[in-house]
Amino acid sequence: MTKLLLPTSTAGSLPKPSWIAEPEKLWSEWKLTGDDLLQAKRDALLVSLQEQIHAGIDIVSDGEQTRQHFVTTFIEHLDGVDFNKRETVRIRNRYDASVPSVVGAVSRPKSVFVEDAKFLRSHTDKPIKWALPGPMTMIDTLYDAHYKSREKLAWEFAKILNEEAKELEAAGVDIIQFDEPAFNVFFDEVNDWGVATLERAIEGLKCETAVHICYGYGIKANTDWKQTLGGEWRQYEESFPKLQQSKIDIISLECQNSHVPMDLIELIRGKKVMVGAIDVATNTIETPEQVADTLHKALQFVDADKLYPCTNCGMTPLSRTVARGKLEALSAGAKIVRQELG
Ligand SMILES: [Zn+2]
Repeated sequence: MTKLLLPTSTAGSLPKPSWIAEPEKLWSEWKLTGDDLLQAKRDALLVSLQEQIHAGIDIVSDGEQTRQHFVTTFIEHLDGVDFNKRETVRIRNRYDASVPSVVGAVSRPKSVFVEDAKFLRSHTDKPIKWALPGPMTMIDTLYDAHYKSREKLAWEFAKILNEEAKELEAAGVDIIQFDEPAFNVFFDEVNDWGVATLERAIEGLKCETAVHICYGYGIKANTDWKQTLGGEWRQYEESFPKLQQSKIDIISLECQNSHVPMDLIELIRGKKVMVGAIDVATNTIETPEQVADTLHKALQFVDADKLYPCTNCGMTPLSRTVARGKLEALSAGAKIVRQELG
């Protein structure tokens, strides 16, 4: 079998149907409870899978249909975190949020997403990518009253993530992705222990591994922050050299409509690169030509067999119609470039 060039995928989350949760917002409350909710989550997952397949996405995901939030939902399943004991902390140095507290040793009493992954696996033969929060992004979304050390807590989470990742791999997941938007903020920590804890999280895995580093969802706190970053966004320059040396296979980054100089990709030469060719912070649907244009620019710095067209970030805050249009544009743009490459 010949390997498909430029396989498309999404960064992770996709909009949820309005019958399960209030659409177009983060941390949206579920509209159902108990068994009804469990059934509805599976139905939503299947709808999301079908929408990806229909749009021609090559590497599919669960669309994060069973989670309320990409970080919080994983943490909710862990022991040692008290969701009733909340403190206000500054997230990614950007906005204040009331977050749960770490009150004791953290552990994972049972698997979090493995049943969902098995369910997805049983409904498609396409390659599956599964997103988990990265250790640094997890600690940045919590108040730590126990370890009193960001690094110590990150190592504990890395161990827990590794347990989950191994079970996801056994369930048939092809690519396990860790979301680390915090890598674009805490540069010293990334280099001191951030990349190292990520490598702990992938220890012993045989499937492919990815790290997704972005400028966040298209919410106001993020778009306001982007306004302060100036004309050239060089944040990736801080983490890429260490990631190039790491055991992570794929780096997922934001390129469409962003001010990231494309030549920064040169710093991860040799890695597979998931190039964000869809802007998630606008309702304007890209044309296939615009997607192709971004991919062309990326091809100057990454070999064609290592280029994975993707979205800048998750699309959960967008309408389903817009998200669908963007997925179709991604497929059509990748197809243009694929044909040119022969
Ligand atoms: Zn993202």
